[in-house]
Amino acid sequence: MKLLQPNEMVDSIYDINLQKLKAKGIKGIITDLDNTLLAWDSAEITPTVEQWIKEVRKAGLKIAIVSNNSAARVQECSAQLGVICIAKAVKPRRGAFRSIATQFNLAPEEIAVIGDQLFTDVLGGNRSGMYTILVNPISKKEFIGTKVMRLIEKIFLRRK
Ligand SMILES: [Mg+2]
Repeated sequence: MKLLQPNEMVDSIYDINLQKLKAKGIKGIITDLDNTLLAWDSAEITPTVEQWIKEVRKAGLKIAIVSNNSAARVQECSAQLGVICIAKAVKPRRGAFRSIATQFNLAPEEIAVIGDQLFTDVLGGNRSGMYTILVNPISKKEFIGTKVMRLIEKIFLRRK
């Protein structure tokens, strides 16, 4: 069950204290795309997201997007944001997380994984030995399969 517990739970990416993360030894961030940075299936990059990416870089943290969504969509978004990405990542499998750690030249414990789903983002990050942060999903409108997972997530989170 421990693999399903995030290290931190916040409302949104904007509630993450970047300086606190740095104090914990975090040097890089791997973030999810859908419902974490953007509303699900929205390709619209909001100015606030752009600003947040700037803040992350200003804090001296590396950043990458790892998403299970299609290559075209993820590449379009990450290109607009100027962030490296891995699409079709098959989270919670560890491959994409490890690949970014190698590109960052960082140890797993120096990386924070941010996402809105327990069974992909948090589980994958925890399995990879990274620091995990769960955010509330931006949009309620999402893939039906995800909605079912939300119910199951609630059950697991209550068991803390
Ligand atoms: Mg997501």
